[in-house]
Amino acid sequence: MARTEAQRTPIESGCPDGFQYMHPVMRKNYGDWAYHEDPRPGVLVHTAHGGDKIYTVRAGTQRILDVFTLRKLCAIGDEFADGYIRFTIRSNIEYMVSDGSKVEPLIEALEAEGFIVGGTKNSVAMISHTQGWLHCDIPATDASGVVKSMMDELIDEFKNWNMPNRVHITTSCCQINCGGQGDIAINIQHTKPPKINHDLVANICERPSVVARCPVAAIRPALVDGKPSLEVDEKKCICCGACYPPCTPMQINDPEHSKLAIWVGGNHSNARSKPTFQKLVAAGIPNNPPRWPEATAIVKKILNTYKEDARDWERMNDWIERIGWPRFFELTGLPFTKYHVDNWRGARRSLNASTHIRF
Ligand code: SF4
Ligand code: SF4
Repeated sequence: MARTEAQRTPIESGCPDGFQYMHPVMRKNYGDWAYHEDPRPGVLVHTAHGGDKIYTVRAGTQRILDVFTLRKLCAIGDEFADGYIRFTIRSNIEYMVSDGSKVEPLIEALEAEGFIVGGTKNSVAMISHTQGWLHCDIPATDASGVVKSMMDELIDEFKNWNMPNRVHITTSCCQINCGGQGDIAINIQHTKPPKINHDLVANICERPSVVARCPVAAIRPALVDGKPSLEVDEKKCICCGACYPPCTPMQINDPEHSKLAIWVGGNHSNARSKPTFQKLVAAGIPNNPPRWPEATAIVKKILNTYKEDARDWERMNDWIERIGWPRFFELTGLPFTKYHVDNWRGARRSLNASTHIRF
């Protein structure tokens, strides 16, 4: 894309123009990179057609950063890098330097402060996670906490290139909104219909929008004790939690009945293959803060099996496609139950099974 020197006028929403924060070598060679190499875990070298090189050093962060940690990370960037940083969507911080001799001192400075360098090529990348209790109004777990406790156990997989190919893990702290597609996804799974506080519905909820939110038409307007409220047909309800954001008196989060579920094999389309959709492999896992040991044990089991059995450069979905789902359950030792069979009769009509946008 051609770019003029004049920067666009800021608009009242959206992020600022990223070019002003870019390393000058990256700005100069924008769109003109010839190839990249991976000299060691956590480091990328991009070479431009004209011969310029830029080194990127990647370190994991806990995403929700306090101001002191941010200042520390920036101070390292000023002293050991060229003063340019950026964050990736997986909450890694990246430092760019144009002089290769700065890479090792930069890594030493980061590791001396307790930051972990890695997450490139065939490693387990930093888990991408949703907001959790800190920012969002509907979470049933703290996705950030799940990420922290899992990455503590997967630290060696982040620092090394041990996996057959890269592994992207995602978390989601409710069942319906952000989070999502990954080689392994850890998502909330509600198992009971919402409990309605009829005293509050009339004051808080716009009833027609709540009725419209339900994907299976399980909600009806109702009069309860003479007050306008809502009722749920529990036989139809699929416990998705979509009614909870527009109507908080339809409480679905529950310490016991909101569980975790693990899905595997999601991948975007690429030059060689179509997108693949992730499939449920473990359900009903306790939502057990602060360390979520049960979910972590299952993720480690899946990763170890993939590491041992997949061929070089097979992504998790390619590996499962080659060996087949029965063999996946056999190798991982995960039980296959009737709950894994997606027999919901409305699924065919209402679930997106293509990349076409429908309204
Ligand atoms: S996954 Fe759900 S609860 Fe978590 S931040 Fe996104 S919308 Fe909020
Ligand atoms: S949880 Fe989902 S399926 Fe159940 S009533 Fe609410 S919106 Fe409908």
